[in-house]
Amino acid sequence: TASASSEMVKAIRVHELGGPEVLKWEDVEIGEPKEGEIRVKNKAIGVNFIDVYFCKGVYKAPTMPFTPGMEAVGEVVAVGPGLTGRKVGDIVAYAGGPMGSYAEEQILPASKVVPVPPSIGPVIAASVMLKGMTAQFLLRRCFKVENGHTILVQAAAGGVGSLLCQWANALGAIVIGTVSTKEKAAQAKDDGCHHVIIYKEEDFVSRVKEITSGNGVDVVYDSVGKDTFQGSLECLKIRGYMVSFGQSSGTPDPVPLSALAAKSLFLTRPTLMQYTISRDELLGAAGEVFASVASGVLKVRVNHTYPLCEAAKAHADLESRKTSGSVVLIP
Ligand code: NDP
Repeated sequence: TASASSEMVKAIRVHELGGPEVLKWEDVEIGEPKEGEIRVKNKAIGVNFIDVYFCKGVYKAPTMPFTPGMEAVGEVVAVGPGLTGRKVGDIVAYAGGPMGSYAEEQILPASKVVPVPPSIGPVIAASVMLKGMTAQFLLRRCFKVENGHTILVQAAAGGVGSLLCQWANALGAIVIGTVSTKEKAAQAKDDGCHHVIIYKEEDFVSRVKEITSGNGVDVVYDSVGKDTFQGSLECLKIRGYMVSFGQSSGTPDPVPLSALAAKSLFLTRPTLMQYTISRDELLGAAGEVFASVASGVLKVRVNHTYPLCEAAKAHADLESRKTSGSVVLIP
């Protein structure tokens, strides 16, 4: 057991809700890890769209002011009293909470971290934990994608989208992806999308109908929300699955049951947190992601890295759709 003294570290703090400008680089005090806790010096921090929702107030942060960030990889620098199973020097990763990863160091519950295989570097691990576990539960548990399914992935060149396309392709699905630009279309193709639709230029509903000979797709993974939700429902085949897992364009309008009755559709609004409740589920999801990276099924696109102090710039780029693949902050 080792312990570090309480001291100041640098972190991003949000004092008022808003856009990228509310992310401030400040000194914060970090305490000692208590029972069941560890103190981690972060090496790489994953940026996720959920961080934008918290800064804007779409989701409510647990405290105010707060340090954003739901994912990081780092080295254990102190462990709480009596803790076994974790030691100083371990490289660990966590994703999905607690909040506060946009910091040089943070205190975490030991139960929330997983060991990172030595073959996977911290930047790759921080790019693929939250987004990869999301792809894992969406494709393998929420709706089980199988060989021969036809699927539609909205925002196919995004962090989660890129991993969804690669993994679904490996599972034998016919993958249709939507993106906003030609550059993103090229990436989505490379990630195994059989058909890419530039939804800023083309009507994705009619294109999907054309591609599927009027039948529609088995499942839609929609993280864009407001702008695509209605069209996504229209792309589904009879008894298809609508998986609405985000709202990068805004919260979708309420859905009347009659919208589902028209085709006996299923609708779910899942979150990673509810698919990693038990330690076994967390280790299972992370393990499958790390194994898929190691085997080459998933190529992690770390397309954007920023120094941690420039988190505001990272958010500005993510919010304005300038990024593709994963975005990582380096302390
Ligand atoms: P992305 O890298 O996918 O970034 C968001 C993308 O959404 C943009 O690049 C853009 O792609 C597209 N987009 C469409 N309309 C807009 C808009 N008006 N403003 C901004 N972006 C828009 O982010 P992440 O990979 O971090 O997350 C993807 C989604 O998955 C998010 O909605 C997130 O909340 C959700 N998510 C949900 C989880 C869950 O547990 N339910 C867990 C993890 C992520 P393009 O330019 O091609 O249109």
